Amino acid sequence: MDTISTSLAAIQQKIMKAALQASCVPDSVTLVSVSKTQPLEAIEAALAAGLRVFGENRVQEAATKFPALKALYPDLTLHLIGPLQTNKVAEAVGLFDVIETLDRLKLAQALAKEIKKQGRAPRLLIEVNVGEEPQKAGIPPKDVAGFLATCQDLGLKIDGLMALPPKAQDPAPFFACLKTLADSLGLTHISMGMSADFEQAIAHGATHVRIGTALFGQR
Ligand SMILES: *Cc1c(COP(=O)(O)O)cnc(C)c1O
Repeated sequence: MDTISTSLAAIQQKIMKAALQASCVPDSVTLVSVSKTQPLEAIEAALAAGLRVFGENRVQEAATKFPALKALYPDLTLHLIGPLQTNKVAEAVGLFDVIETLDRLKLAQALAKEIKKQGRAPRLLIEVNVGEEPQKAGIPPKDVAGFLATCQDLGLKIDGLMALPPKAQDPAPFFACLKTLADSLGLTHISMGMSADFEQAIAHGATHVRIGTALFGQR
């Protein structure tokens, strides 16, 4: 009984439909399989089903699960989608291919230093606090242009934006806000949408959707 293949087929069909409706090429939307808290067997099943792009929230957890898998699957791409503390920057730069949660100056400075030191540069996304929620990480929309310029001055290449809209609200205006912001800054990688709302996110221009429970089941 291969549940991942079944849920994956349903998700891929929804991605394709949403992408066609948004008149973008289905291949232009990447499914980031959010494997946080999932055991190795679940990730191995996802790999067997053909998935190669994974998202993890915690550096430590990813470090226990992924180095061995990356050795087995050289085309595996690992995204950090949770907060990054500066004392974990060295480990994160060594392990992740994409860091989606660049959310403050101190982290940008630490990343710039560590990328130079290791000669390894993960792709970077700025996390945007689209709902301007005080308890949430991310740069407020009005400050993103300035923060981007600061990052570039530090020598960082920024590929895109990531956001987590406020809970229990229609995410559509927040998705639209992130897309408008990315376009205005010439950033092409737009990470938004999770299990509950990825079709809406694609309708608003997501290039990467981060899906956990719809793929792996409840955590
Ligand atoms: C857990 C998580 C997801 C996946 O959420 P699901 O609702 O399980 O699809 C996506 N993005 C971030 C930042 C997360 O922490």
